[in-house]
Amino acid sequence: MRATDCVFCRIVSGRSPCEEIRRDELTLAFMDIRPANDGHCLVIPKAHFATVLEMPPVLFGAVAAAAVAVARAVEEVLRPGGLSLLQANGALAGQTVPHVHLHVLPRRAGDNLLMNWDRERIAAATAEPARIAAIAARLRARLGG
Ligand code: 5GP
Ligand code: ZN
Repeated sequence: MRATDCVFCRIVSGRSPCEEIRRDELTLAFMDIRPANDGHCLVIPKAHFATVLEMPPVLFGAVAAAAVAVARAVEEVLRPGGLSLLQANGALAGQTVPHVHLHVLPRRAGDNLLMNWDRERIAAATAEPARIAAIAARLRARLGG
């Protein structure tokens, strides 16, 4: 997708409206148009990157820092029971807008938002220590650790 076709790029450039709540040199925060709960907002880099896999890590750091500022405001103003920070990469992960965004999502008791896997029902094979260790070794090798 070209940046000109991107809904969040249109918001950054002012060609589409949004309920803006914060901006700095690198990031923009605004209310989600279809909030899962009251106070649901999004923090994006102003520059177009489809997923975190393409963007400079330090820029994701700026998005994360902005999200913490927004999360603190949401906490103080709305007093939700909890806050989820969510970020999807790729359709399989639930990403519907291909411009990196971090959801700041207030949580309410009984909101039944289905984003949590059942910690009690993990496949035995997946939790096998040798399997975890083997995957860790491959990742360490790639990360130079
Ligand atoms: P995703 O599904 O990619 O994790 O999240 C995309 C989010 O962007 C959704 O929560 C959706 O409601 C929100 N969204 C999509 N289009 C617009 C828009 O034009 N304006 C605003 N403010 N939010 C949008
Ligand atoms: Zn974009």
